[in-house]
Amino acid sequence: MIKAVVGANWGDEGKGKITDMLAKEADIIVRFQGGANAGHTIVNDYGKFALHTLPSGVFYNHTTSVIGNGVALNVPLVFKEIQDIVSKGVPTPKILISDRAQMVMSYHILFDQYEEERLGGKSFGSTKSGIAPFYSDKFAKIGFQVSELFDEEALKEKVAGICEKKNVMLEYLYHKPLLKPEEIFEELMSYKKMLEPYVCDVSLFLWNALKEGKEILLEGQLGSLKDPDHGIYPMVTSSSTLAGYGAVGAGVPPYEIKKIITVCKAYSSAVGAGAFVSEIFGDEADELRRRGGDGGEFGATTGRPRRMGWFDAVASKYGCRMQGTTDVAFTVLDVLGYLDEIPVCVGYDIDGKVTTDFPTTTLLEKAKPVYETLPGWKCDIRGIKKYEDLPENCRKYIEFVEEKIGFPITMISNGPGRDDIIYR
Ligand code: GDP
Repeated sequence: MIKAVVGANWGDEGKGKITDMLAKEADIIVRFQGGANAGHTIVNDYGKFALHTLPSGVFYNHTTSVIGNGVALNVPLVFKEIQDIVSKGVPTPKILISDRAQMVMSYHILFDQYEEERLGGKSFGSTKSGIAPFYSDKFAKIGFQVSELFDEEALKEKVAGICEKKNVMLEYLYHKPLLKPEEIFEELMSYKKMLEPYVCDVSLFLWNALKEGKEILLEGQLGSLKDPDHGIYPMVTSSSTLAGYGAVGAGVPPYEIKKIITVCKAYSSAVGAGAFVSEIFGDEADELRRRGGDGGEFGATTGRPRRMGWFDAVASKYGCRMQGTTDVAFTVLDVLGYLDEIPVCVGYDIDGKVTTDFPTTTLLEKAKPVYETLPGWKCDIRGIKKYEDLPENCRKYIEFVEEKIGFPITMISNGPGRDDIIYR
């Protein structure tokens, strides 16, 4: 059976923690999209870790961690990540990397930086990890697939052609140093050396695992609202963040994805530019940012302060629907324990008309939040294990949100640790 763990919002919902927790019962954990541009923060017995490309199951002995074909594979970073966790005492994880995954090249990262520079104030707020240039090249059919590393003659020819094309942009658009084909080839050969022991026909591996009755977890990066088709285009990421894409990005039958656990945060946060209807500012935002997550709401990859807001039921209802949610994991609820009252965005006012359906970007830019305010519970709920033991106002908040989004909240996360979870 396959379960997917995906985000309902703008990312940073706590997917890493939920995946790490569910990985206890799983055999295989697969990353199916995205790259090292976002991070999952995980707190467990070994310490606190920020993972960017490795699946969140790498901390267990019994699991196999898989990097699927849909991932933007930054080879040196993956190896650095493996070294980092091993140096902190985690047993060397079993890792497989798809022979159909494509590699982020050093020039993708440069092009990302050059483009942000060129756009100046109109930039997308990219993390400059090369993700957009990487996926552009993949779909323009000028990317490098891991399998291609094993035919050096063909590779040399391809490198020459790509450098010719890239150098036109470097010379005339960006006015930057040109690429040298020999250096790009060397870069690829260094990746080959690192990758060789891990390369695998992943879809076949997963197919066989399914036949043996193994439990597979698909781990998504970012959330529904960053999906290139269904998110807040163009302020989105460059690969699909939806569970449905898990079938493509891992190479598994779509009908095998039986459970879709959508992680939804008890308040909102976002990084990068784009409309954010329930955003809050000033002291109110600073306080929530400081108290948020585990040690504050700052990007796991960039350290950038996240933009903060109240829970957005319009965006979350849509986010859960687009994922095909079977279960909602409602996270970081403990953080809200300091508030006397908690506003929830229950509708968008667009040109005087209130809607609860999430609109396209042009209309979203005009949306103003409609709030309902709920009473706070004014206490620390960490350590509570049973739903009935939560304060009444806290249960009311959960039930209010559940009704507004229309999907069942079956898990409540009340702390960053593996065991800070309440099943309902
Ligand atoms: P991801 O990218 O979706 O995995 O999310 P991040 O790792 O960027 O952000 C989640 C942050 O919240 C991390 O620092 C987690 O340790 C922390 N976290 C996850 N669940 C909870 C929770 O229920 N309560 C608290 N206080 N922190 C949590």
